[in-house]
Amino acid sequence: MSETTELAFKARELDAGDELAGLRSRFVLDDGVYLDGNSLGALPAHVPDRVQDVVRRQWGELRIRSWEESGWWTAPERIGDRIAPLVGAAAGQIVVGDSTSVNVLKALVGAVRLAGAGRDEIVVDATTFPTDGYIAESAARLTGCALRPLAPAEVPGAVGGRTAAVLLNHVDYRTGRLHDLPGLTAAVHAAGAVAVWDLCHSAGALPVGLDEHGVDLAVGCTYKYLNGGPGSPAYLYVRRELQDRFDSPLPGWNSHAEPFGMRPDYAPAQGALRGRVGTPDILSMLALEAALEVWDGVSVEAVRAKSLALTDFFLECVARYVPAGTVQSLTPVAHEERGSQVALRCPDAGAVMERLIAQGIVGDFRRPDVLRFGFTPLYVGFADVERAAEVLARTLRAGGGDA
Ligand SMILES: *Cc1c(COP(=O)(O)O)cnc(C)c1O
Repeated sequence: MSETTELAFKARELDAGDELAGLRSRFVLDDGVYLDGNSLGALPAHVPDRVQDVVRRQWGELRIRSWEESGWWTAPERIGDRIAPLVGAAAGQIVVGDSTSVNVLKALVGAVRLAGAGRDEIVVDATTFPTDGYIAESAARLTGCALRPLAPAEVPGAVGGRTAAVLLNHVDYRTGRLHDLPGLTAAVHAAGAVAVWDLCHSAGALPVGLDEHGVDLAVGCTYKYLNGGPGSPAYLYVRRELQDRFDSPLPGWNSHAEPFGMRPDYAPAQGALRGRVGTPDILSMLALEAALEVWDGVSVEAVRAKSLALTDFFLECVARYVPAGTVQSLTPVAHEERGSQVALRCPDAGAVMERLIAQGIVGDFRRPDVLRFGFTPLYVGFADVERAAEVLARTLRAGGGDA
């Protein structure tokens, strides 16, 4: 058997044994191989009709009554409770709204205020997705803190009595490296500081365990592995024991104890509601709520097991098909250090990705030289993986980016 047939055969066997394989039919997809769900998740098939109902009936017919009758006003906390089990949180600790960037600001400034007097340093993941770094820099200026960028591995040895808050990414958006959330959270706590985690690349792909590991604050987006749609609102987690002291830097009227009291003075609501700001973006939010129904009956543990099997199999196919030395994986081999994507460095990566996309293999390119392939276990199968590696190998043999 040639290598190609052998791995294609193995892919068929893996697909046949995949208990999540049937979930693919819950999504709108085509014959291509979609490996960009870590950037924009695919559309769940029932969402268009639901959005249509929100627009035509709830808005078009009920109009203002929908704030009550269609549950618009309570959507941020209701949808937060739907996300909660996916990130290991009990109900009442997550609100949905605003972008991840805005929630990073709420979380970081809130964290410094929680840390209390005498602590004047914010530590930020030096390899972070840029927006987190930009916002952290501004949060530091707003709170009179110094900003200290560090690689996550350096954090335990560097945090101390000055550290107010530490912002870390659970999974690195470039390399796909999974950081040790329990260990790093414990190290931050040992220094008396507040741990803030960005879950953009982990929620919906692997278990997070926010409550179990004592995470203080967390943020994440919903348009990647949670399939909420372009620009769907992000979320903010505030651990229950901290909610009474959580002091948001954006205390809009939606977080007021009595929003319709229209009082001149601010008094915060109880609970996770304190993370709300202004009028929620109902259309995106209710599209997200509908999208989250694809998780009904799906266990995050099963998703994680399949995710690791998919990335293992991709690495195996790449090692067998791609000419030695043409690509270099940046993604850790150890399962406990791997998220749900594989990042391959290769010369001329931008042009290579263009050629892959032209052949129906959709990943993305990150400057300067990284090919990113995201594996969403809800709708990616093993035959997809084998095909993607085979087309990649053929593309590289034909001269990579050269047309
Ligand atoms: C995707 C992503 C974001 C996106 O931020 P937005 O405000 O939603 O544009 C932020 N941080 C990380 C780590 C991400 O992966």
